[in-house]
Amino acid sequence: MTAPAYDSNNIFAKILRGEIPCKKVYEDDHVLAFHDISPQAPSHILVLPKGEYVSMDDFTQKAAPGEIAALFRALGQIARDEGLHETGYRVISNCGLNGGQEVPHLHLHLLGGRKLGRMVQQAA
Ligand code: AMP
Repeated sequence: MTAPAYDSNNIFAKILRGEIPCKKVYEDDHVLAFHDISPQAPSHILVLPKGEYVSMDDFTQKAAPGEIAALFRALGQIARDEGLHETGYRVISNCGLNGGQEVPHLHLHLLGGRKLGRMVQQAA
């Protein structure tokens, strides 16, 4: 799979540039995290690299080791800060068409606060 070119008009690019507000929960040199606008669980946080990566496919091909480490360190830190490590949580990254990715800037969904049920719904 070849990642499409990065679209700098996507909604998360606008949030990263400060053109659109977000409910920020974490920021460092490489990472921004904020509450999902349409939460699917009591806690639903999106964790993004600041670099211009379309998807997990793009990120794992092009990102520097420091960016990759920063994203996952931040994810774990945010989960602990939110108290999600106590009861458990789920991390999802939708990639491309079959993954159901809607916003073409890599993001990790951090979900918790209730039992989340089946990991993947049955195909119709
Ligand atoms: P995905 O389908 O994995 O690309 O997920 C995109 C997510 O972005 C969805 O869960 C949306 O609810 C969320 N989303 C879209 N626009 C915004 C926004 N302006 N602020 C926060 N979350 C958003």
